[in-house]
Amino acid sequence: MNPGAGGTLTVIGLGPGDESLLTESARQALDAAEDLIGYHPYVARIPERPGLTRHASDNRVEVDRARHALELAAAGRRVAVVSGGDPGVFAMAAAVFEAVEHGAPGWRDLAITVEPGITAMLAAAARLGAPLGGDFCALSLSDNLKPWPVVTARLEAVLRADLVVALYNPISTARPWQLGAALEIAAGIRAPGTPVMFARAISRPDEAIRVTTLAEAPTAPADMATMVILGASTTRLIPRTGRPPFVYTARKVEAA
Ligand code: SAH
Repeated sequence: MNPGAGGTLTVIGLGPGDESLLTESARQALDAAEDLIGYHPYVARIPERPGLTRHASDNRVEVDRARHALELAAAGRRVAVVSGGDPGVFAMAAAVFEAVEHGAPGWRDLAITVEPGITAMLAAAARLGAPLGGDFCALSLSDNLKPWPVVTARLEAVLRADLVVALYNPISTARPWQLGAALEIAAGIRAPGTPVMFARAISRPDEAIRVTTLAEAPTAPADMATMVILGASTTRLIPRTGRPPFVYTARKVEAA
């Protein structure tokens, strides 16, 4: 008999932070897991319990981590791989499938499932109003996995297309200048008064939201837990006293 029979691998999205934003289906998959694999801050979100082995790792070894998960699943374990937000958005799900494509042929027959989560841009948008109400796109500003000229070429293309742009991974200690460079590119294409939103640690205790303009954006604080949303020409602000404005992007676009 195949000793690996019964092994499963579930790639789970933990949502932006608060437990109430984790889906019921993801919760059930976490409860069923015997091995938990992921970047250590995400693994730390899941309390220890008897029968659960937590394998936390560094952020830079996604495909190694995916292979480890697949090996455990192939040995018959019930494995959960966790990511913040949605696992398919700049996260572990693609690394798992990359490892499957290039790995042991038997891995293709494993029961592999993906549990979606609320991704940062949707959690941030909901706090702000409806900035993603029209056409939009998501870009990662990280140049760890793609060359910087690819990032800038894509950014310029979507800025010219007047899409709202959700920027993931805008900055980190290892990548301190990319956000400034991206804002400079945006300033060359969009009007200085274009709304720019900084949404930090959404749904966590240290959540912070700032609504500014493209002209002022370079002075806004940002860190690894921040998502930046660049408005389009159809993005509007509704000012409110003593609170951040509502931000929405009109769905209606006039003919050019
Ligand atoms: N899979 C994740 C994204 C991973 S990339 C998701 O779907 O959300 C990591 C980047 O996501 C961070 O640098 C930040 O830009 C953004 N991010 C993740 N969680 C966030 C949160 N709670 N609030 C704001 N931005 C967040």
